[in-house]
Amino acid sequence: MSSNVTILGSTGSVGVSTLRVIKSLGKEFQVYGLSCHRNLDLIKDQIREFDPIAVAVSSDEIIKSEEYIKFKEEFPEVEFFDGEAGVTELASRRVDILVSAIVGAAGLKPTISAIPSVKRVALANKETLVMAGDIISQKVKEYGTELIPVDSEHNAIFFLLEKVKIQDIKRIILTASGGSLRDRSIAELKTVTPEEALAHPTWNMGDKITIDSATMMNKGLEVIEAHHLFDIDYDFIDVVIHPESIIHSMIETIDGAVYAYMSVADMAFPILNALTFPDKRDNDFGGLDLVKIGNLNFQSYDNNRYPALGLCYQAGKTGGTMPSVLNAANEVAVMAFLNEEIPFTDIVKIVEKIMGLHNTIYEPDINEIFEADVWARAEANRIIRGRV
Ligand code: MG
Repeated sequence: MSSNVTILGSTGSVGVSTLRVIKSLGKEFQVYGLSCHRNLDLIKDQIREFDPIAVAVSSDEIIKSEEYIKFKEEFPEVEFFDGEAGVTELASRRVDILVSAIVGAAGLKPTISAIPSVKRVALANKETLVMAGDIISQKVKEYGTELIPVDSEHNAIFFLLEKVKIQDIKRIILTASGGSLRDRSIAELKTVTPEEALAHPTWNMGDKITIDSATMMNKGLEVIEAHHLFDIDYDFIDVVIHPESIIHSMIETIDGAVYAYMSVADMAFPILNALTFPDKRDNDFGGLDLVKIGNLNFQSYDNNRYPALGLCYQAGKTGGTMPSVLNAANEVAVMAFLNEEIPFTDIVKIVEKIMGLHNTIYEPDINEIFEADVWARAEANRIIRGRV
């Protein structure tokens, strides 16, 4: 019997990879729902190829357009959901697996609404755990929903934990590529262009996450994500730079052994793992030729080069609404950098400034988390506009 799957963010990088994996598995998975923000051209192709029951489009601008009316008319057999509320409604439809692959804070609401009605959430949206980790952990327990991380590092740890007992862990070690600018001098970082920062050495990903890799904000968000997923204290989560991106993460046990999870750097692997767990599948995504790779390298990270990582540890340890504020400020600052409004090095400075202005609410409810998010965005916009 095939399992049905809804993919939120199907036109993004992880969404496209998910459909590639589903296609490779033949009839094993049936696409129930797809959602996108505004890429109607791509989702059209996906509807034709995967024949979903339901589709949601989140952009307010798009759903009010002529083009959208025509688009819906092309697919009379599909049920459409409009706007952000529509995405959340689609997410709450009963399916076997929901793949949560929307980028950024926009992924939180739909992911929460899916938890009571799906068997498994394959989570690629790290902001869900960064912003509301405690609430999510409590909800998946309450409803008995499986939560399987698609983020490659956490997927690696998740599978290593099949072999290693949690009480034997000395620390977990998240690997980081160091991002597109790792070989530039710190002085050069002030003047790098969005184009230079977007050229990632090992992973092919969306723009936001590629910039987050360059600042290592991405790794910092992953530290917070790991804390919630595996219920591990921040003092036992370390980060090491591993430029080849072959080892996706490691666990060190109390006896001094280190377990590493390796594969080629292709999101198809963590996605396949999350879809078929606990089973493994033969696939065509590429085997690992270690002889050809030759060397695996490891370096510690420099706090002066990557101040974002320290801020993430700080926000995570503070807890409450602080991680939401960090994340929201970063989202606005990254967009401003991509729009060439601020230099690369100001991204993290803006985040730090806004964290300093925030009065943390501890044990917040979901509304307080969203209010903190909105506040941080407004502050970030104010600071960025104030500069010009
Ligand atoms: Mg990752």
